[in-house]
Amino acid sequence: MTGERYEAGQVHGLSKVGRPLLVRYDLDALASAVSKDDIAASDAPGFWRYAPFLPVTKPENRVSLGEVMTPLIPLDRSASGLGAQPGKAIVKDEGRLPTGSFKARGLCLAVSMAKEFGLEHIAIPTNGNAGAALAAYARRAGQRATVFCPADTPDINVREIQQQGAEVWKVNGLINDCGRIVGEGKEAVGWFDVSTLKEPYRIEGKKTMGLELAEQMGWRLPDVIFYPTGGGTGMIGMWKAFHELKAMGWIDGPLPRMVAVQAEGCAPIVRAWEAGEEHAPLWEDAHTVAAGIRVPIAVGDFLIIRAVNESGGFTVALPDEEILAARDKVAAEDGLLLCPEGAATVAAYARALADGKVKPDETAVLYNCATGLKYPMAPVDRALDKDVPIDYARFGAA
Ligand SMILES: *Cc1c(COP(=O)(O)O)cnc(C)c1O
Repeated sequence: MTGERYEAGQVHGLSKVGRPLLVRYDLDALASAVSKDDIAASDAPGFWRYAPFLPVTKPENRVSLGEVMTPLIPLDRSASGLGAQPGKAIVKDEGRLPTGSFKARGLCLAVSMAKEFGLEHIAIPTNGNAGAALAAYARRAGQRATVFCPADTPDINVREIQQQGAEVWKVNGLINDCGRIVGEGKEAVGWFDVSTLKEPYRIEGKKTMGLELAEQMGWRLPDVIFYPTGGGTGMIGMWKAFHELKAMGWIDGPLPRMVAVQAEGCAPIVRAWEAGEEHAPLWEDAHTVAAGIRVPIAVGDFLIIRAVNESGGFTVALPDEEILAARDKVAAEDGLLLCPEGAATVAAYARALADGKVKPDETAVLYNCATGLKYPMAPVDRALDKDVPIDYARFGAA
């Protein structure tokens, strides 16, 4: 961080040295203007209840598709099987948001800011969920959206993006290649580049994950947060939220340990953190079933690693088999269908319990960043012939 300041009220991208810009507020003024009761009394949809913490100045620019406060769901059977005490392992299920992922938070904010600035064309590189959220919110606001995704992005995501009115292009590369196309097209096309952390507004939307968690827990925070980390906006946004709440005197005590969870097939942050570095070079041949965290290089790498270190947290990388086994276990035992990225946090939590990094009586919040319904599931091979006598013993005796 360079400490340079930039004016509010005008469009920003990266800083002069090519690093992310973060929005700063007059938190003393905010603390005297709003109270926790004001927030509690808000009837705005979902995270718009935190509008005083957000950079959109005119209420008519708040684009909405019916945001909700996402539920906190304790894992019962699956977590007690891992040795956790009852109620201590809690999933925050972001799959309930419009377009089925937490990407709605950031892109709703970016689109609302674009509306405030009168920008009419937005472009994004995506692994799927961000493109879908941009498509939906941009169309809602009457803006044009152009989306670039790796050619092997799951078909359901690519089609969803197109269905929601965006122009989507499949690129023979990874998300960083798509990011280069968006960046280079800025001059020629004049679109607003909303790549992860290349403008300061998406992160403000992601920040609401932290504000919302604090409010839902009675303005207290858990001991530890497990977060599936790709570009890291969620991690950086929550960390920013906790600092703002602390500066306002709305929370006190130690902040949660932040755990960055990645897949073994794409773990640049874990590798850098283990080496004691702040910057994470490009991860070659990135692959994982957890598409949302297949991010081989992150412009906010140092901000993620600082949040982990300042919080006393750690990083974990997991093989796909362990991620999918966690998904299967939670779905079968607790009836909650996680996305693979969310399942990775459960697998990481299981390991942390086993090696003592998290105690069974500590409260752990595990982020499920998208609905499990957008991901491939095992095929069903049982079939029943209605025209032959049915042997009911096959279904199990009562
Ligand atoms: C984008 C995404 C992530 C990673 O998000 P960041 O906050 O950018 O690190 C995790 N899970 C899912 C499902 C995603 O779509």
